[in-house]
Amino acid sequence: KLHNTILELKGNIRVFCRVRPLLSEDGVGTENPVIGYPSSPELSGRGINLLQSGQKHQFTFDKVFSYESSQQEVFVEISQLVQSALDGYKVCIFAYGQTGSGKTYTMMGPDVQSQKGLIPRSLEQIFQSSQLLASQGWKYKMQAHMLEIYNENIRDLLAPNRGGSLENPVTGKPYCIIQDANKNAYVPDLTVIDVCSSEEVSTLLHQAAQSRSVARTQMNDQSSRSHFVFTLRITGFNESTDQQVQGILNLVDLAGSERLSKSGSTGDRLKETQAINKSLSSLSKVIFALAKKETHIPFRDSKLTHLLQPCLGGDSKTLMFVNLSPDPSSVGESLCSLRFAARVN
Ligand code: ADP
Ligand code: MG
Repeated sequence: KLHNTILELKGNIRVFCRVRPLLSEDGVGTENPVIGYPSSPELSGRGINLLQSGQKHQFTFDKVFSYESSQQEVFVEISQLVQSALDGYKVCIFAYGQTGSGKTYTMMGPDVQSQKGLIPRSLEQIFQSSQLLASQGWKYKMQAHMLEIYNENIRDLLAPNRGGSLENPVTGKPYCIIQDANKNAYVPDLTVIDVCSSEEVSTLLHQAAQSRSVARTQMNDQSSRSHFVFTLRITGFNESTDQQVQGILNLVDLAGSERLSKSGSTGDRLKETQAINKSLSSLSKVIFALAKKETHIPFRDSKLTHLLQPCLGGDSKTLMFVNLSPDPSSVGESLCSLRFAARVN
């Protein structure tokens, strides 16, 4: 586990910031950039400036990726973290940011193979490495599950039903979270699939995306308001040394962090707005509490944090991407995201 010492020295939560390129639909030229990078060499690749109404706000993170950074360049910076899941660590990587800032692009990537995102790249690396480790006697069992949390309801995206399932097939009730003998939170009766290759996981990711899009057309657009959680459980056993490891890799595409206006929201809409805010704000509370090493961490306050509890804090490794849009009309939200991330870091 030598290669992990660098990460451990840095503490548990790290923050990477990524700015997406300007898109034609942003409807603006580049003549008024709101995002800049400090010129001092010691902040190179770590600093970012945001200009809001003539005022400059400067932030530093563990890493800052400009719009020029490719998917591969970003992946290189997380590959050790992904690798540590094979060593038995619990790893959580989040993408945080307003809708349209590039969270899904970062995690999944577009349907262009050369631009695939962190999830497919991580899986390729994990299966490749596990094959290499086989020569040292390691055998791995990998299990994947994928779920969505929307309005504090869990949807099993790999359930055989069209659009996935909101109901536990055994109890007929909504999915709940309970703890196993090792105090690890889990969702009973969720579809968990044994996987042996990254191609198999790709097929499942497609199925999950399909379920999400069916669910989205059934209810009003919720894709940007739900959290997508991909989980790979890794159990490794070494026959020659009798060693055993249990790692988990969670890759999470969070709901858009934009402040939703409560005005005009009534009934279900209001309830929805509050519930969506709840899981994101609860995640930030948990992360702040962890960053400050507080004794009480409010994991149980939302489904998302309850579910990810074993993978947050302790000797787990957490990385948060803060995705930003360079669109000047997003500057207010960008500032919120950067301030949030700066508190975490
Ligand atoms: P989010 O998931 O945060 O709502 P998306 O990932 O869907 O945002 O990104 C919004 C748009 O920006 C999409 O059209 C996406 O393809 C594009 N985009 C995001 N990040 C990048 C990037 N790094 N390079 C090129 N295009 C990007
Ligand atoms: Mg998205």
